Amino acid sequence: MVAITTERLPLRPTRAIIDLSALEENYREIRKGLPQGVKVLAVVKADAYGHGVVPVAKRLESLGCDLFGVALCEEGVELREAGIKVPILVLSGFFESQVEVLPRFDLTPVVFHRSHLPLLNRAGEVEGKRIGIHLKVDTGMGRLGIMPEDVPSFLRDLSSYPYLYLEGVMSHLSEAEDEEGAFSREQIERFEGTLETIRACGFHPSYIHISNSAAIFNLKAHYNLVRPGIMLYGSYPDESLRGKVDLKPVMRLVTSILQVRRVPEGMPISYGREFVTRRESLIGVIPIGYGDGFPRALSNRGFVLVRGRRVPVVGRVCMDLTMIDLTDIGEVGIGEEVVLVGRQGGEEIRIEEFARLSGTISYEALCRIGPRVPREYI
Ligand SMILES: *Cc1c(COP(=O)(O)O)cnc(C)c1O
Repeated sequence: MVAITTERLPLRPTRAIIDLSALEENYREIRKGLPQGVKVLAVVKADAYGHGVVPVAKRLESLGCDLFGVALCEEGVELREAGIKVPILVLSGFFESQVEVLPRFDLTPVVFHRSHLPLLNRAGEVEGKRIGIHLKVDTGMGRLGIMPEDVPSFLRDLSSYPYLYLEGVMSHLSEAEDEEGAFSREQIERFEGTLETIRACGFHPSYIHISNSAAIFNLKAHYNLVRPGIMLYGSYPDESLRGKVDLKPVMRLVTSILQVRRVPEGMPISYGREFVTRRESLIGVIPIGYGDGFPRALSNRGFVLVRGRRVPVVGRVCMDLTMIDLTDIGEVGIGEEVVLVGRQGGEEIRIEEFARLSGTISYEALCRIGPRVPREYI
């Protein structure tokens, strides 16, 4: 007898279908707009924004993507263990207990505090490697970074550590999606000033970077490296970018009808009886809920696609199940496909709309698609 493992177990049809050729097209589309010589660091943090980091990184690496960006040390280790060879920048820091992981797995740290220097220098010495660091300057994001005025003394410190060198200088924009871009220009000006200081101190880092997805198209502050994330996955950080770049959604979220029932007028649907049928209705139940990352905020607000048409979510979204009103569609069979995000026939629910209806942004909506939803790659 062959043991039944979860890998062999037939699963419910709730799936995130990841189109790697759409990822490829988005990557090429972003590349196309860049001047010669500008490199691309693909941001693949948070499991590649919910798309599954290993298949995504492997495809991007095969396309010649220059670097990867992850948030955490452990995300970098996962990529190295999967055989990814290109440089990996750890964007969101590390703690003392993690520092040795960086040189051991050849991960490049972003440094935003003086206290990092002795820790990294020691780790470099232990591993017998010099560590290239990317200095993060806070030009107005108010998050991680060294203030511009503290850069000269930071660099003096840095010079005293033989196992460290300045490989990159970076900053992050707080409202790159704003088309007017007044504050972004202020940030860029502060960045420029800091770059001058750095050169005046005798440092010539190989990488200079500030642009996330939106900034690549709104501000053209490319320097010699850009850091796209969300756009690789086919989502626009702002509607105003739609005219500037052509992106293809990478993720479709699908399931199938689990049950259909004709119910009388006056029938309460789901917890709390927030929805009560106003006519004899055909109510479908689908096997997805907030336990999968289908937001509870879509209760009585969301839509799904059935037979290429929009169908409303009725009643509260439960942990594992959601009800939809199929009355206007007519008889629908158990097992028929339901699309929660993506295209079906001539209709489409973009992740941006899905996110807006649930009171968030596409970034969060994508990351929240949970581990209970298998990713299927096409
Ligand atoms: C997440 C992140 C990015 C990517 O931002 P997008 O808006 O998804 O393109 C770039 N840089 C840093 C520092 C980040 O944390």
